[in-house]
Amino acid sequence: MRNRVKMKTAEKLKQEVCRAIDIEREKIIDIGETIRKVPELGFKEYRTAGLVSDIMEEYSVPHQTELAVTGVKGKLASTNPGPAVALLGELDSVLVASHPDADQETGAAHACGHNAQIAGMLGAMIGLIESNTIENLAGSVVFFAVPAEEYVEVEYRMDLVDQGKIKLPGGKPELIRLGHFDDIDMAMMVHTHSNPGFKKAIVCSSSNGFITKFICFEGKVAHAGVAPEKGINALNAANLAILAINSQRETFRDDDSIRIHPIITKGGDLVNVVPEEVRMETYVRGKSIDAILDADMKLDRSLRAGAMAVGGDVVIKTLPGYFPLSNNSGLISIFKENCISLFGEDDYQQAGHRAGSTDMGDVSQIMPALHPFVGGAKGEAHSDEFTISNPDLAYVAPAKLLAMSVIDLLYGRAETAAAIVENHKPRFTKKEYLDFQSKLYKTETYRGSTNCSETISNSF
Ligand SMILES: [Zn+2]
Ligand SMILES: [Zn+2]
Repeated sequence: MRNRVKMKTAEKLKQEVCRAIDIEREKIIDIGETIRKVPELGFKEYRTAGLVSDIMEEYSVPHQTELAVTGVKGKLASTNPGPAVALLGELDSVLVASHPDADQETGAAHACGHNAQIAGMLGAMIGLIESNTIENLAGSVVFFAVPAEEYVEVEYRMDLVDQGKIKLPGGKPELIRLGHFDDIDMAMMVHTHSNPGFKKAIVCSSSNGFITKFICFEGKVAHAGVAPEKGINALNAANLAILAINSQRETFRDDDSIRIHPIITKGGDLVNVVPEEVRMETYVRGKSIDAILDADMKLDRSLRAGAMAVGGDVVIKTLPGYFPLSNNSGLISIFKENCISLFGEDDYQQAGHRAGSTDMGDVSQIMPALHPFVGGAKGEAHSDEFTISNPDLAYVAPAKLLAMSVIDLLYGRAETAAAIVENHKPRFTKKEYLDFQSKLYKTETYRGSTNCSETISNSF
C-alpha cells in the first residue's frame, strides 16, 4: 500500500512536469521543426514514423511500429493498475505544392500543423518521464503517432485496399479495425489552429462527419453536331443530377449542418463528341449519422434522376468517410482547467459545432475522446501561407496541456479517468462501428433506360 500522506499532490506533479517540459523546450521545438521539414502524405509517413520511433527508443519507451502501415504506439505503465489514456499525434501532412516548405518531389507540406501534434505528444512523454511522474499515477499512458488523418489521395488508398494492406481509408478507423485501440480507454490530442479570431485554446462541442461518393455517369457517344440524337449525353445527366441535389437543400435542417459539395472530375472527352463518361466526386457531411444517411439517400435519388432523364446509367460508389466528432464533457472540463491555469481565463474559448471533419470522430464514437485546438500558427490551414508563428504555443504548450491532463486523469487511483469511462455512453461498440463501416462500402449501378439498379456490397 502506498503511503498517501507522502504522496505528492496533483498540482505539485503538474508543476514538476511543466518544469521538465520547460527544461526540454528546445528539444521539443526541434522535434516539431524537424518533422515540419519532412512532410509526408497519409499511409506514406515512413520517415516521420522513424523519427517518432527514434525518440521513443532514446527514452526507452517500449513501442510497436508499422501499425496500419506507419503508426507508432508507445506505452508508459505505472505499477498501479488503472485505465489507459492515449495521447495522439497525427503523422501526415497535406498536399500544397506552392508552400515554401513543400517537398520538392511530392508537393507535400505541413500546412495543417500535424508536425506540432507529434511535438506535443512526444513533449508530454518526455515531460512525464523526466519528472518521473508515472509512478505517482495509476494505469498507463499510450503515446500514439497515427497515420493518414487527411482524407486525400483516395485512389492510392483504394489501391492499398486492393493490395490487402488496409481496409478502411483513414488512419484511426483502420487502427480501430486492427484492434490497436482495444487496450485504450480514452484518447485525446491537440490540433494546431491559425485562426486569429480564436483564443489561444478553443474546444468545439462537435464536428461534422462525412461519407465519400465516387460517381460515374455513362452515356453513348455520337457526333455532337451531325447526330446528337443518336447519343446519350452523360454530361446532361450529371447537370440534371447537380440541379436535383440543389433542389434537396431546402429539406436539410439547419441543425444537421449538411454539406454536399460535388465536383466534376471528368466532363467529357472531345467537344464534338457527345460525352460518354462523366465523373463526379462529393462528400456528404453532417452533424449526426442519421442526418448524413438521410442526405445520402437524397443524393443517390438525385443521381438516379439525372441518369433516368437521359436514359443513361450511373455507377455510385459509396466509401466510408469519418464519423461526427463528439468531444467528451469530462475531458473538456479537465482540458479547460489546464488551459486556464496555463493561459489565463481570457485565452480559453468554448465553441459550438464545427463543419469540418476529423477521424478523431470515429474514436469518439467508441470511447471518450477530445480534439481541441491550440494556436501558434498563422495563415489559412491547407494553404501556402500556413506557418508556425509561435513555437512555444504550437509545440511546447500542447505538451504541457496533455501531460497535465494525464495527471488529472490518472492521479491517485485514477478515479477521475474511471469516472469518465463509467459515465460515458459510447454510440457504438467496436463491433457495431465496424459493421456499420463495412455496410457503407457499396457500389450501385442504376440503369436509367430500365429504371433498374443493382448493388454490390464491398463489405469487409
Ligand atoms: Zn487538415
Ligand atoms: Zn489537421
